Amino acid sequence: MRSAADVVVIGAGIMGLAVAYELARLTAGKMSVVVVDASYLCGGASGRNGGGVRAQWSDAISVELMKESLAEFRSFARRHRINTWFRAGGYLFLARTEARAEELARSVEVQRGAGLDTRFLDRAEVKGIVPELFTDDVLVGSYNPHDAVVFPWPIVWGYAEGARALGVEIHTFTRVTGIEVKDGRIGAIDTDRGRIQTSTVVLAAGAHSPEVARLAGVELPTRPHRHEICATEPLKPWLTPLVADLTDGLYFSQSTRGEIVGGIGNDRVPEGPVQTSSGRFLALYARALVARCPRLGAVRVLRQWAGLYDISPDQRPIVGSAGEPEGLFLTSGFMGHGFMMAPVIGKRLARWIVRGESSSELEAWRLSRFREGHLHEGGMIIG
Ligand SMILES: Cc1cc2nc3c(=O)[nH]c(=O)nc-3n(C[C@H](O)[C@H](O)[C@H](O)COP(=O)(O)OP(=O)(O)OC[C@H]3O[C@@H](n4cnc5c(N)ncnc54)[C@H](O)[C@@H]3O)c2cc1C
Repeated sequence: MRSAADVVVIGAGIMGLAVAYELARLTAGKMSVVVVDASYLCGGASGRNGGGVRAQWSDAISVELMKESLAEFRSFARRHRINTWFRAGGYLFLARTEARAEELARSVEVQRGAGLDTRFLDRAEVKGIVPELFTDDVLVGSYNPHDAVVFPWPIVWGYAEGARALGVEIHTFTRVTGIEVKDGRIGAIDTDRGRIQTSTVVLAAGAHSPEVARLAGVELPTRPHRHEICATEPLKPWLTPLVADLTDGLYFSQSTRGEIVGGIGNDRVPEGPVQTSSGRFLALYARALVARCPRLGAVRVLRQWAGLYDISPDQRPIVGSAGEPEGLFLTSGFMGHGFMMAPVIGKRLARWIVRGESSSELEAWRLSRFREGHLHEGGMIIG
């Protein structure tokens, strides 16, 4: 492991790897970049998620960023020479209460204003897209055919291989235990395998970011929240879009291998970074899934697992310079959508670090907004 680097990235999830790859690309490998991770590639949320990637959001910033990110996902397999199982079946959102229906109508306007061809649907049109759904209680829906699902692991591996090919060092099973701050600036990081001198640290430790930030004297307002998910036995392909119910957080899609992969919002989870699976989730999910799609009543669940959302108080991430100490950059708080955002965040953050160029989108997600009271409202969060 190098003893000094221009940039050290903490966390080799999709976020840390995307930033490292884009830093190396932007500087044609001339910047020395080291990524350290306490675990293995895909050990964090990036290896445990549903792979949903969409541009249907309620705010213009997220829509704009996701348009760019979706384009990156679409061409990722060709550029990185790895099969990502990218499947653009669209996302079908459902609203079952008046409040949700109004929010959805506003979101569709924002999306159409940004050039997306999202359709706002009545009940019959929802049924027309997925005839197998129970829709008697659905008020309205929205559908965008360009939203997609990928298999997350090849994207993580693709970024890792791409970064390595450009000279980035990636060290798994290397835990950061300290961050040295000297005269208000980053000086070095300590790991359980040695020290690396550096003036720039990118903190991309997902749901563990608050405890790592504390090593540099920074308090983050995010917290870990267990999110469970499961996959069934494979079925013949029949379900095109990912279906997401905004009322109870139920979502499910069919993978290219035929499995129904899905989860549901669950407020009753243990405190802290717990990643065990629960019977309660299975009961909650199965009940909601079968009510929404009765034909799935006899399908067997094959695998169940859990990962961590990093919950942010205003449902928006924290990205960009921490301010103090100088040289610390943050990218966390992505809840259930960090996977889809990573390609565009990787690009923007790399430009900020190398050229000092911020962007209005990232400024809106600065850490200081919590202190300043500039919190965001609403959101189209699922799960
Ligand atoms: C079940 C589930 C389903 C999801 N579905 C979707 C979805 O469909 N679409 C979507 O966009 N998003 C989804 N998400 C969210 C998405 O997975 C995350 O937002 C994203 O993967 C976060 O990436 P990350 O790189 O920030 O974090 P992670 O992938 O968690 O990576 C952080 C890394 O930091 C490392 N680390 C922690 N502490 C230290 C330390 N002290 N020293 C060194 N390394 C450390 C960890 O080992 C880990 O590898 C889902 C999440 C879950 C849990």
